[in-house]
Amino acid sequence: MVSKILIANRGEIALRVLRACKELGIPCVVVHSTADADAMHVRLADESVCIGPPPSRESYLNIHQIVAACEITGADAVHPGYGFLSENAKFAEILEAHGITFIGPTAEHIRLMGDKITAKTTAQELGIPVVPGSDGEVKTEEDALRTAAEIGYPVLIKATAGGGGRGMKVAKSEVDLIEAWSTARTEAAAAFGNDAVYMEKYLGKPRHIEIQVFGDGEGNAIHLGERDCSLQRRHQKVWEEANSPALNVEQRMKIGEVCADAMRKLKYRGAGTIEFLYENGEFYFIEMNTRLQVEHPITEAITGIDLVHEQIRVASGGGLSVKQEEINFHGHAIECRINAEDARTFVPSPGTITHFHAPGGLGVRVDSGAYQGYKIPPYYDSLIGKLIVFGRTRVECMMRLRRALDEFVVDGIKTTLPLFQDLVDNQDIANGDYDIHWLENYLAKKPA
Ligand code: ADP
Repeated sequence: MVSKILIANRGEIALRVLRACKELGIPCVVVHSTADADAMHVRLADESVCIGPPPSRESYLNIHQIVAACEITGADAVHPGYGFLSENAKFAEILEAHGITFIGPTAEHIRLMGDKITAKTTAQELGIPVVPGSDGEVKTEEDALRTAAEIGYPVLIKATAGGGGRGMKVAKSEVDLIEAWSTARTEAAAAFGNDAVYMEKYLGKPRHIEIQVFGDGEGNAIHLGERDCSLQRRHQKVWEEANSPALNVEQRMKIGEVCADAMRKLKYRGAGTIEFLYENGEFYFIEMNTRLQVEHPITEAITGIDLVHEQIRVASGGGLSVKQEEINFHGHAIECRINAEDARTFVPSPGTITHFHAPGGLGVRVDSGAYQGYKIPPYYDSLIGKLIVFGRTRVECMMRLRRALDEFVVDGIKTTLPLFQDLVDNQDIANGDYDIHWLENYLAKKPA
């Protein structure tokens, strides 16, 4: 059993993990930069350590400071949250070398899924369906032309070391491809220090559907259904829901079982998410995230399982708390990501929150470290909270979401709340009829 957990993150996720530790009666320590001394998770923690100045690389990404904070406070485990060091294999290794438990998968599995070509090959070997594409790296122009002719246009050139939706180029013809292949390589070299690229068939109108998996590291694994995260802007998720309006029970259980089975073969440990594009009834693997996701609460809502409790339990060697057949999927949940941004231009809006009122009532959860008087620092991402709403049906969930959005007050800064007020009244959204391009098209058409 781990006896004291250090939370190596900030914002709403640090608070989320802190709450789980408190429930489990596990003492915990939070770390923070000088810019976050007044953050809610720091105020609520039993113990906190300042690990550096505002820039992330000198604080939240500073491995030495975090290891030192563990040693000073006697923490024997680290929860990395999402982002920052959560998918850093070296961090996991360094912690293990110091006898500190990393609450996450093995460094080997983080590495395996961190490189996109290796991840795709591994997924395929494990029986997960992948997007048709090149066999590994596309090294020459001839290689690119031949592969594209085989899989058919349009094709997508992707950087092996890419992330966050960067380093991708679509080509509709041979002429396009020659240009796309060389610019993608140049851009990948500049952005990621690695010019390796590969090719995939470009899917025109897919949905983004991801499967939540959990393994005990000994060959037992379960899936917790899917989340539909198709509503995105610049490849950033904006609204997520579980279940997906596009899947029926048989499809859910079938793809879920394929993923759980792959995790059993891999002897995967901890929480993971297998991301797919979904088009015309087919799933195509795009990547695996070896950590907790921002949108995990919607899975918690429809399964009743606390994913952070489960992570801590698995990391402590206690195994999984449930068997696949014990998981009951019920109802519908939607998450809205509330960002400190202008809802029209998406320009960040840091500053002081002069008034804050979070909605409540049955089926409403707000995960946020924001409070009245809190000053949002300008140094980090603009997520200030998540509104998660649950209903027995999708219709009930949408009704409740509309009501919860009406109650939500955040004054003093701009937020994306008005965007959700529009979306909840939109007919396509009501029908669940959207793909990964829907939101960008909607925003482009919307009158200013
Ligand atoms: P990253 O790691 O940069 O986020 P992903 O492989 O997860 O890269 O892809 C990011 C997004 O790019 C996807 O959510 C999807 O919107 C789009 N995308 C990726 N692969 C394809 C494809 N083969 N066809 C169409 N769109 C794609």
